[in-house]
Amino acid sequence: MNVILLGPPACGKGTQCQLILKQLAMECLGTGQLLRDEVSSGSELGKEIDSFINHGAYVPDALIMRMVFKWLNGVGEKPWLLDGFPRTLVQAEALNAEGFRPDVVIGIEVSQDVLEERILSRLICSSCSATHSRKVVGDGPCPDCGGVLVVRDDDGIESFRKRYANFNELTKPLYAYYEAQGSLVRVDGTLPPEQVFERVASSLKLPGA
Ligand code: AMP
Repeated sequence: MNVILLGPPACGKGTQCQLILKQLAMECLGTGQLLRDEVSSGSELGKEIDSFINHGAYVPDALIMRMVFKWLNGVGEKPWLLDGFPRTLVQAEALNAEGFRPDVVIGIEVSQDVLEERILSRLICSSCSATHSRKVVGDGPCPDCGGVLVVRDDDGIESFRKRYANFNELTKPLYAYYEAQGSLVRVDGTLPPEQVFERVASSLKLPGA
């Protein structure tokens, strides 16, 4: 089964991804993390990517599609899970055109005020990249691996508002796109992560769901 996770920034896509991977053997790609890793490498490509991410802008379709299709072609016949791709209609149509069709698209829905509250307390582990809330773990260390928790460079409120505006303009139309294809499952992302996962698990027909 091939799965896409769609949703605004800080809706919990990364957390749901980790929960899915505990139960299903899938190849997973988080495009935000892929891009941040390229930025950390200090490469020329990374510098180009950084100039978009740090201004709250999406990276150009052609650039992200090159990276994602390279990864998907390496996955072969194994099932895949995409977190953060596609984010535009151009990306979604290219995915279909290349024959990478999702079986289930999970569209996570959370209101703007809840997202803003989450962004302001969000921390990311500099070792394992897991996301945590300062409200739960304080300043750290990372409860998963003991690593140092830091604030993401693009998690300021101004950057968030640009990313959220991009989401509404460019990504939200994908809900209707996948609904028309019969693969969309809408999930209320304001619930606690375990309850969100119950809905996700039932849409993926996981055992015990
Ligand atoms: P995320 O970690 O999913 O919040 O992504 C962080 C940032 O990476 C986004 O705000 C975008 O700038 C960029 N990004 C990630 N995925 C994509 C994509 N599919 N298309 C364009 N930009 C992306």
